[in-house]
Amino acid sequence: MFAEVSLPISSFQTFTYLVPENLESQSLIGSRVTVPFGNRKVSGVIVSLMDSTSFSGEVKSISRFDDDAPIISQNLWKLVRWISHYYITPIGVVYNTVLSFNISKNYIPRQSWFVKNFSEDIDLLLKKTSPKQYLVYKAIQQSSQEYIKVSSFKNISSNPISVCKALESKGCIELVKKHDNQDEKRLTFNPVKKNISYNEDQLKVIDNIKSTLRTKKFKSNLLHGVTGSGKTEIFIEVIKTVIKMKRSAIILIPEISLTPQIAGRFKDVFGQDIALWHSQLTKSQRAKTWNEINNGDCKIVIGARSAVFSPIKKLGLIIVDEEHDSSFKQDSPSPRYHARDVAIMRAKIEECAVILSSATPSLETFYNYKNSKHRYLSLPKRYGKAVYPTVKVVDLIDESKETGKFNIVISGTLQRKIEEKLKNKEQVLLIQNRRGHSPTIKCSDCGSIVMCSACKTPLTFHKYDNKLKCHICGFISNKILDTCKDCLSQNFLYVGTGTQKVENILQETFPNAKISRVDHDSTKEDSSTMKILQSFLDGKVDILIGTQMIAKGLDFPGITLVGIINADLGLHLPDFRSSERTFQLIYQASGRAGRGQKKGEVIIQTYDKDNAVILAASKLNLEKYYEDMLDDRQLLNYPPYSWVAKIEFIGSNPKSVFSLSNKIRNNLMNPYKGLEILGPAPCFKEKVNNKYRFQIILKSSKKYDVNSNKLHSFVSQNFVKYNKTVTGSNKIHIHIDPITMI
Ligand SMILES: [Zn+2]
Ligand SMILES: [Zn+2]
Repeated sequence: MFAEVSLPISSFQTFTYLVPENLESQSLIGSRVTVPFGNRKVSGVIVSLMDSTSFSGEVKSISRFDDDAPIISQNLWKLVRWISHYYITPIGVVYNTVLSFNISKNYIPRQSWFVKNFSEDIDLLLKKTSPKQYLVYKAIQQSSQEYIKVSSFKNISSNPISVCKALESKGCIELVKKHDNQDEKRLTFNPVKKNISYNEDQLKVIDNIKSTLRTKKFKSNLLHGVTGSGKTEIFIEVIKTVIKMKRSAIILIPEISLTPQIAGRFKDVFGQDIALWHSQLTKSQRAKTWNEINNGDCKIVIGARSAVFSPIKKLGLIIVDEEHDSSFKQDSPSPRYHARDVAIMRAKIEECAVILSSATPSLETFYNYKNSKHRYLSLPKRYGKAVYPTVKVVDLIDESKETGKFNIVISGTLQRKIEEKLKNKEQVLLIQNRRGHSPTIKCSDCGSIVMCSACKTPLTFHKYDNKLKCHICGFISNKILDTCKDCLSQNFLYVGTGTQKVENILQETFPNAKISRVDHDSTKEDSSTMKILQSFLDGKVDILIGTQMIAKGLDFPGITLVGIINADLGLHLPDFRSSERTFQLIYQASGRAGRGQKKGEVIIQTYDKDNAVILAASKLNLEKYYEDMLDDRQLLNYPPYSWVAKIEFIGSNPKSVFSLSNKIRNNLMNPYKGLEILGPAPCFKEKVNNKYRFQIILKSSKKYDVNSNKLHSFVSQNFVKYNKTVTGSNKIHIHIDPITMI
């Protein structure tokens, strides 16, 4: 018997191997095998089996089977095949992602040294002879834990194990090596208790979903609930039904560390049945969790996008919370999949229900509901007594004229409102969707801008560590320039506003207020995001400033004012989704205000008050805005009215990359009616990390290509064949349904 094996390499080619006779009974499609490849051994997956082969060269033999039985279910295998086909990615690469970094089935929990606690008196002689041993001895005696981790004595001795071993040899203590479950504790969230009585809208939605669950058939639902409408409670209620039916559920959320409240709520209700799946798991934790899910010990998986691949059995429901969120799309490395779309496909394969949930659905999802692809479930009112906030737009152009000040960060209106809230002991949330202190540093004499040499993009000034950073490639310049490299001037302007600048201005304006900041820098610099969020929830912080990270999903009843420092950021990027994103950001951020007893207020600062997006967002008029947006998209033939593929060409020599992209463009075969080909043109981020980037955009009108089959075969036919030998050191990346054009 022969097997076709796909390897985790960027080639679609599969390789033929001989199945040793004694292993024939084991050989099944989807099994992991180790095979000789060149002069090394690699792990691959069997994609097909046959009795004979037409391959004329020497056929090598499979070295061994990695597992006793195929490690993934037939349903997951079907999903792997679909992803490989839809996202035009070699099956071995997809398989590796689904199995998340070569899960080991033989996970051995990490062992650490512990000291068993005791109650005997301290040997006072030690104090004189070995003071360190004495201190450790005392610390053990004072501890309330039954077992104390040896590494916890690091503050006493740099080598605590040798101190403990010395104590043990004197017969003072008992050392044991045991499984360390401290790591897992770090990953869990404090359970959040809540007493719930559902309102009429919620009951209706719950009933609807429950009756769908009982059919045990595929059904996709859009749960469109305004911010603060109590969606989490609905999830809990319907998952209870799933569990009663002896089935299981997956909940996808954008980022666990930012939505600890949701995870905490689930933990409170479902306890040990929950597995958390997120990027901060170590390799061994990942393996342990994976195996727990695979063995059926956990019935519910909650996690970020890759949780969609959990090896959970008897799936009854998949929930994609905040389905519009861009973090569900994996941009790099391949497979470049969208977890929401994979979730829908998985629900189809597993014949179960899927719920896409959002206060601001993506335009695609909204369009699909309008075209009867999803059932629409609506929560039009906020939960409890909370009402929707009032919104005020502040025109920064007018404000500049009146005050004679430029570059206003906190307008007079916003400042007075913050003062009022601080006086009433209410909380304020401010959003500025740009991190760092100043995004641009400019020579005030010649106008030259300090750039990242690897990316052709301005460096951002970070005040707290006094460094210049590139937000694209991560380059950090430790030396702050003192002279302009073009004119030797020593005068620099720090242009633009990032969260750190807002924080500084707030500290100067409100010296008595407690102010915290959450963005990608704060999570590294200070304590963790969760700690900051917790102290805000506990009322220990008056003003929280952050990027879009904190605009979504958080439920802080104390917030009565949300301020958007500059609503125009991101509005004019050359991307057909930029206005949709701006709308969602403003709408979601506004949704953080007034979730408790008191009514909330929102202040939107803008230089562009007549802009349609700003106007619609300030009126919180979602339906009208979505209808207008759909008209625009139709006019320009953009999704959801067309399918889009982005083909990226990347390489270190701009001439060679461009000529490659041009050559391929000029040789495209079989274009069809309804296909639009744009480019090649430089990408918006033209140079990243010393690599030059060009792109070709393909738009395939749904009128002529209903299910995107035409676009898929066009891309497969024209771009897949270019392998290493044809493209040299240049690379081609295929993005199907890209969520960004930049
Ligand atoms: Zn200069
Ligand atoms: Zn850079």
